[in-house]
Amino acid sequence: MTTEQSRLKTTAAPDEYFASYRRPAMSGVDTTHQVILYLEDISVEFDGFKALNALSMEIGVGELRCIIGPNGAGKTTMMDVITGKTRPSSGSVFFGQNIDLSKLSEAQIATAGIGRKFQRPSVFEHHTVFENLELAYKCSKSVWPTLLAKLTGEQRDQIDTTLELLRMRQQANRLAGLLSHGQKQWLEIGMLLMQEPMLLLLDEPVAGMTDAETQRTAELFNDLRGKHSLVVVEHDMDFVQSIALDGKVTVLCEGSVLAEGKMSEVQADSRVIEVYLGR
Ligand code: ADP
Ligand code: MG
Repeated sequence: MTTEQSRLKTTAAPDEYFASYRRPAMSGVDTTHQVILYLEDISVEFDGFKALNALSMEIGVGELRCIIGPNGAGKTTMMDVITGKTRPSSGSVFFGQNIDLSKLSEAQIATAGIGRKFQRPSVFEHHTVFENLELAYKCSKSVWPTLLAKLTGEQRDQIDTTLELLRMRQQANRLAGLLSHGQKQWLEIGMLLMQEPMLLLLDEPVAGMTDAETQRTAELFNDLRGKHSLVVVEHDMDFVQSIALDGKVTVLCEGSVLAEGKMSEVQADSRVIEVYLGR
């Protein structure tokens, strides 16, 4: 059996899957080259228009990569390709060295360890913050008997750790519908974290947030750095600056990479300045 076959087998709910809440280890992802995601020569066409045009990129294990670029550059389409929502007309997408994402369904890609945060928050408004995290945890097991089972101490601890990370312990028993926009966004990130993704994709996470919420989100992302690989698409340059630190920033334009490097380098790049200010 190949590693891919054995990895997929864990999603078919074997008996040991029911024995505890613990997610089966995602041992199938081969990251011996320290790369979690490979996009190679990806093109996406909509009625002859190239939303992505021979896009190539590699994301390192534990890296926090910021993606910037003007509207229509293809940033969201790139995330759609990674998560299997859109299939490229050419090129390849690999999770680690061995998992060909083009062969997996959207659900299988999520189970393999890729979580995605869309722009609008989607939480269960009529449940408390704690319950939202609990549901996310149990739903990631995708088997209904676990929904009825009581949480063990260890599982409560894991939810507690997430609440602490989100700085939302005070809100644990509050209905999610009563949270601020920023708090809902953090809760949804927490729900993704309960599923222990190796790679997290975040599309414009601070859109609509207050300055204070934006700052808090930057702290959160800096806490997640290294524990997960993160790909963050964002327009807010101050925010990008505060999470990019010394890491790589990729500038997308017209469906391909225009520039890549440290924030200070791409900001000084005349082609980037042209795209943002010129025309
Ligand atoms: P960004 O997120 O960088 O603003 P998008 O990836 O949303 O850009 O879009 C890239 C280009 O592809 C845009 O010109 C957009 O209009 C086009 N596009 C995106 N999705 C579709 C679709 N489903 N059908 C047709 N055109 C699309
Ligand atoms: Mg977009």
